[in-house]
Amino acid sequence: MDDTATGSRLLTGQIPAQAHTVGPGWDTLLDRLHRDLVALAPDYQIESFGTKFGGLRIAVADRFDDQGEFDGEFTDAATALIDTAELASEQMCETCGHPGRPRFRGDQYRTWIQTSCDNRHSAPQAGATSSGQATP
Ligand SMILES: [Zn+2]
Repeated sequence: MDDTATGSRLLTGQIPAQAHTVGPGWDTLLDRLHRDLVALAPDYQIESFGTKFGGLRIAVADRFDDQGEFDGEFTDAATALIDTAELASEQMCETCGHPGRPRFRGDQYRTWIQTSCDNRHSAPQAGATSSGQATP
C-alpha cells in the first residue's frame, strides 16, 4: 500500500499508484488493465486518472521510439484496453465491485454521478471533506 499524501499534481507513474484515488470496487478492473498495459509496454506512464459520469477516465502518455517516432501502435492498443475498462467500470459498483449502474448523487452544494449497486454504501464522497473522519 502506498500512503503518500495526494494533491493536485502532474501525474506520473502507473495505474497502481493512482488506484487508491477511486473506490475499492474497481481494484480488480484496474489491476487487470495495469497488467495488460505492462504487457504492451512495461514502462507505460499514465497522463490522467479520474472519473467522469460515474466511470473511470484514464489516459496514457504518448510513447516515442529511439528515433523520436510516435508509437501509434501502442496508443491504439492501449486506448482499446482503456475503453474496455472504462465501459466495464460504468457497470461495476465503485465501492464493492458488484454489478451496478451510474446513479445521480448529490448534496446541497452539488451533484455528481457515481456507479453503484443496489446496496446503500455510506462511504463519504472523496473530495467532499478533508477531515478524513470515518462515519461509524
Ligand atoms: Zn456496491
